[in-house]
Amino acid sequence: MTTPRKRRLFFALWPDGEVRKALASAAAAARRHGSGRPVADENLHITLAFLGSVDEEIKECVRAAASQLTAEAFALSIDRAGWWKRTGILWLGPSKGPAALNRLVKTLWAAIEPCGFWPDFRDFYPHVTIARRWRKARLPEIGPVDWPIRALTLLESHTGQRGARYTVLERWPLS
Ligand code: ATP
Ligand code: MG
Repeated sequence: MTTPRKRRLFFALWPDGEVRKALASAAAAARRHGSGRPVADENLHITLAFLGSVDEEIKECVRAAASQLTAEAFALSIDRAGWWKRTGILWLGPSKGPAALNRLVKTLWAAIEPCGFWPDFRDFYPHVTIARRWRKARLPEIGPVDWPIRALTLLESHTGQRGARYTVLERWPLS
């Protein structure tokens, strides 16, 4: 018997080319002091909901749920760098997470709950991981990156020895 193929999925805010460039240069500036494993520019994102490995049926369920979801577009300003000592994660994020972002995450978890997921938004700290295993030297000021949030994106993660690669599966515009 063959085991059905499972995919490692997550919902994220996925920057377009222009925002990605701006995030990449802010990330490079923030990584100037210290050492660790940088995240590739093409991987920069903000995870909204991590689903783990799911089969085809669950994938179709979350896609259907996401396509019916209503949430508003909003502005996000990525204006600070931060470091979580325990996990060694160096990140960029908003100093003030907009209420619309929290609503989006709540709405998303509520939408996919019938697919078998347990809402997990209480510990939601919006951030773009820019390096792992980071040993801090100092955190610089970063010029703010304006990131208009206009879509919700479902991604597949292909994890490998040389780090993860992500592919966009689907994108739903926010109103
Ligand atoms: P790697 O694991 O190879 O270092 P990665 O963490 O970027 O790379 P994934 O583990 O597939 O790749 O994770 C995809 C996204 O989901 C990342 O933003 C990651 O931080 C987040 N994520 C992964 N595992 C969890 C988890 N258990 N809970 C919440 N978010 C997670
Ligand atoms: Mg990981």
